[in-house]
Amino acid sequence: MKIHEYQAKELFASYGVATQEGYVAYTKEEAVECAKKLGVEAYVVKAQAHCGGRGKAGGVKLARTLAEVEAAADKIIGMRLINKQTGAEGKLVRKVLVTGAVNIKKEFYLSLAIDNETASIVIIASGAGGTEIEEIAATKPELIIKQPVSPINGLRDYQARYVAAKIGIEGANVKEFTVMLKNMYKLFVEKDCSLVEINPLVLTDEGKLLAIDGKVNFDDNALFRHPDIVALRDPDEENPKECEAAKHDLNYVSLDGTIGCMVNGAGLAMATMDIIHAFGGEPANFLDVGGTATTERVTAAFKLLSDKNVKAILVNIFGGIVKCDVIAEGIVIAAKEVGLSVPLVVRLDGTNVEKGKSILKESGLKIYACDDLRSAAKKAVEFVH
Ligand code: ADP
Ligand code: MG
Repeated sequence: MKIHEYQAKELFASYGVATQEGYVAYTKEEAVECAKKLGVEAYVVKAQAHCGGRGKAGGVKLARTLAEVEAAADKIIGMRLINKQTGAEGKLVRKVLVTGAVNIKKEFYLSLAIDNETASIVIIASGAGGTEIEEIAATKPELIIKQPVSPINGLRDYQARYVAAKIGIEGANVKEFTVMLKNMYKLFVEKDCSLVEINPLVLTDEGKLLAIDGKVNFDDNALFRHPDIVALRDPDEENPKECEAAKHDLNYVSLDGTIGCMVNGAGLAMATMDIIHAFGGEPANFLDVGGTATTERVTAAFKLLSDKNVKAILVNIFGGIVKCDVIAEGIVIAAKEVGLSVPLVVRLDGTNVEKGKSILKESGLKIYACDDLRSAAKKAVEFVH
C-alpha cells in the first residue's frame, strides 16, 4: 500500500524524523489559507498523488507570495502528472501540499528497503540525491551505497556513521543523521513497511538535515495489524478493481490484455499468463482466488473479470484444498448475475472435478470446457483474435 507525501511526513514527525510543517489543500483558496498558517517567507506547492518524479513533471512549484501560491495551486490541482512512473495516461492531481521553501545547500538520497538477496532491510544512500537519482543509479551506480542491516542486531550507530561518512555528511550533522536513520528504521519495522524513502534529504543553509520529500510503502500482507495505516488509504489513488479485490481478499492486478484470468494459486496464475502469452494472447489481469475460495469469493472474482477490455475469460482451477464444485457454483451464480457477454473457457481438474463439470453443464451457460491448460489457453486466445 502507498500513501501520500504529506502522510509520510506526518509519520516521520511522529517518529522523530526531522521534516517540515505543511498543510493539504483541495482548492486554490484553501492553499492560500494553508500558506498563511505557515508564517514563512517563501512557499512550495506540491502535487499530492501516488507517483514520484513530480518535480520534473511540473508538480512542484516555488511561490514567493500568497498570489503565487494561489496561481501554483490553480495550475497543479486538476493537472495530470505524466512521466515514466505514471504511464501515458498520467495521474490526476486532486490536492496539494503547501509547505515552506527551504534554502538547500546539498541534497542526499536516503532509504530503507527490503533486500531479497541478504534477506534483510538495507540502507540505500547517496550524496547525489534529488530528482536525478534514477539517472545516477543507471549511469554512476558507484555513487549509491548499500548497507544491509542484520534483523537480529538491528541498526547500529556505527552503521549510520559509516553511511554518513560515505555520502559526505560531516561534523554535527553525523549525530543528527544517526538519530534520523535509526528513527526511520524504527518506523520501517514497527509499521511493516516495504520502503521508507527520503529524496531529497537536504542539508539546509542553516546547517540542519531535513526530509523535504517522503515516500512510505507498506507490506499489504501485514496491514491487518495496522488499522492506523489502513486508515491512510486513498481510494482515489488506487485502481478501483484492485480495491474491490482487496475487500474480498483476492490477489488481483490489472493488466493491459484482453483475456480475463481466474486461477487458484499464484504459481498457476503465472503459468496461465505465460501460456496465454505463448499462444499469442495477452492476459487482462492476474487473479489468484486463493486456496480457500468460497462461492462468494469466486462470485466476486468473476465480477472483477467483467470488464470492457476483456474479450474472453479463462478459468483455470486445479482443485486441491479448493473444490471444483465450489468454483463451478461461484461461476454460475456470477455469470447469471453479471450476464456473460464474452466466451468463457473453463479448465477444471482435481477435487470434485466431475461434480464441478456437471454443475457447469447443467447451468445452461455457454461454457467451453477443456481438460488441460494447453487447449484451454489456445481456445481463449482463438476467441480474442
Ligand atoms: P519529486 O521527487 O516527486 O520530484 P520532491 O518533493 O522531491 O518531488 O521535489 C523535487 C525537488 O524540488 C527537490 O529535489 C527539491 O530540489 C525541490 N523541493 C521540493 N520541496 C522543496 C522545499 N520545500 N523547498 C525547496 N525546494 C524544494
Ligand atoms: Mg523526491
